[in-house]
Amino acid sequence: MIELRDINRIFRVGDEKVHALQDIRLTFEHGEYVSIMGPSGSGKSTLLNILGLLDKPTSGSYLLDGIDITSMSDNQQADVRRNKIGFVFQSFHLISRLTAAENIALPLTLAGMPPKQRDSRVRDVLESVGLTERAEHRPDQLSGGQRQRVAIARATIMRPTILLADEPTGNLDSRTAGEVLDLFAQLHEQRKMTLVVVTHSDEVAARAQRIIHVFDGQVSEHGLD
Ligand code: ADP
Ligand code: MG
Repeated sequence: MIELRDINRIFRVGDEKVHALQDIRLTFEHGEYVSIMGPSGSGKSTLLNILGLLDKPTSGSYLLDGIDITSMSDNQQADVRRNKIGFVFQSFHLISRLTAAENIALPLTLAGMPPKQRDSRVRDVLESVGLTERAEHRPDQLSGGQRQRVAIARATIMRPTILLADEPTGNLDSRTAGEVLDLFAQLHEQRKMTLVVVTHSDEVAARAQRIIHVFDGQVSEHGLD
């Protein structure tokens, strides 16, 4: 379970202060599928970056499975991020000179997994995202939907329990966006992952169980049912 207690994030730019998140109190249960909506500049990415341990709150605490992440050292936080959290971005962030299989394998390579074990894990994941035939293709030889599926495969290859996605379908047309959403549904239903998806699209948000609205750095919730 994730618990955010009174999270604030203030950016300082010169003499200016931007209060990007204000007193955020939120909990996410294990295996929940949540979407985050809100206008541009409202603080969605800041919230997701804090959830993903890519950024630190100015104040407040972040508890993951009852453990206070905010009091951990940078190394401990990096460990938690590597093992428990996957992150997906709007622009995929794949490495252009590596093949799909090599991109997906990267976290395992960095973790020092032996090649045989690694290759078999990559083969399984390629199959589960429907890209076995594209294993040797580089990103520029793949469609947007295929690229995002490679990015999701890479983000989940360490078997994290949480997947965070920042506008993952923002660069995709509605058909290829559908492929990505089907994959999220699969990760949610079969792997019981906790999914948090930032989106501008009502259609994308509607696939989640719960929608959080962010406005001017503050959250409000409206249940779906
Ligand atoms: P969203 O993802 O909803 O579009 P962001 O979380 O990116 O919004 O930004 C929220 C606010 O914080 C905006 O006013 C933005 O300009 C500001 N902000 C975000 N990141 C930084 C940063 N690194 N430095 C200064 N201001 C930032
Ligand atoms: Mg954003």
